[in-house]
Amino acid sequence: MEPAVKYTLIKKEKHTGARLGMLETPHGTFETPIFMPVGTEASVKNMAPEDLEKIGATIVLANTYHLWLRPGEDIVKEAGGLHKFMNWNKGILTDSGGFQVFSLANTRDITEAGVHFRNHLNGRREFLSPEKAIKIENYLGPDIMMSLDECPPFFESYDYIKKSVARTSRWAERGLKAHRNPDWQALFGIVQGAGFEDLRKQSAKDLVSMDFPGYSIGGLSVGESKSEMNRVLDFTTPLLPENKPRYLMGVGTADSLIDGVIRGIDMFDCVLPTRIARNGTCMTTHGRLVVKNAKYARDFGPIDPDCDCYVCRNYSRAYIRHLINANELFGTHLTSYHNLYFLLNLMKGVRQAIKDDNLLEFREHVFEDYGFNKANAKNF
Ligand SMILES: [Zn+2]
Repeated sequence: MEPAVKYTLIKKEKHTGARLGMLETPHGTFETPIFMPVGTEASVKNMAPEDLEKIGATIVLANTYHLWLRPGEDIVKEAGGLHKFMNWNKGILTDSGGFQVFSLANTRDITEAGVHFRNHLNGRREFLSPEKAIKIENYLGPDIMMSLDECPPFFESYDYIKKSVARTSRWAERGLKAHRNPDWQALFGIVQGAGFEDLRKQSAKDLVSMDFPGYSIGGLSVGESKSEMNRVLDFTTPLLPENKPRYLMGVGTADSLIDGVIRGIDMFDCVLPTRIARNGTCMTTHGRLVVKNAKYARDFGPIDPDCDCYVCRNYSRAYIRHLINANELFGTHLTSYHNLYFLLNLMKGVRQAIKDDNLLEFREHVFEDYGFNKANAKNF
């Protein structure tokens, strides 16, 4: 049987581990590396599917945990699956719900069978097992789905992470057995192991032996430093097969995207661009810009003079600042639109730089413009 999602390696960049690839999914074929906007509740906040298409999004993420609790996976299935439910005919990826159980749920109890917890909406007791996560994802119907994993804190003890990795591998195997639609939904395994090289190695070995159509790297971007994350990627991506896509979960700052690609990552997702947009913070070529600030009250220039998006071509900082201060929803639509365009356009530049074999120069250029090489590196 052909897997639901097929990755073809087109070319490797000459001086780094970056790869240009082609990902074929039941809802479109597109070049990688890519950034995937996050639509937690089956909606990328403040964005219509038509907007996402206009800015070149090829695949979006939806959250299993949220859609399971509300409206319920049976309702999404009845609607004809997520694509129909949210009117999005391109790629969709769902996480397993594990990350939210470990970060949002109030109390939780992890056993070999699964996780017991109280849900964050009404405090009701719930249970999520590897089989249950897969069943929910089979109902939701995304093109790519994730195995249930445990995402422990980065700085947990070696002994704890070792046990956790072994359990995540056993859960991955159970999920694989429970998966009903491998012909049209690709299930990825998630490599864990925090900052420990031998545990990442064990995790990758376990999962690769199960022959998943793609692999995620989890447990990063959870509070560790960027150099720590890069160190883990340096020894983790080479453990993964070349002919399968590699997805780094929860990463969405411009520098981390470029540094991840350099280390061989093909897919990224993060709520960051839309989350900061709702506070009036914009990602620009020259660093972050808080458009709400008083100094923009009479600034009639665009958010980013070097951006050619619809927002930057038509609206001023002064107008957007006014809308956000007046709580007009159109204001955060404009900042969300620009931020997502900014990251998708950045990835377009990254793909071109891989084709041209000048990704390190591209990185240098972006970092310099952003001010990342200087003291205000935190503003990235
Ligand atoms: Zn723009």
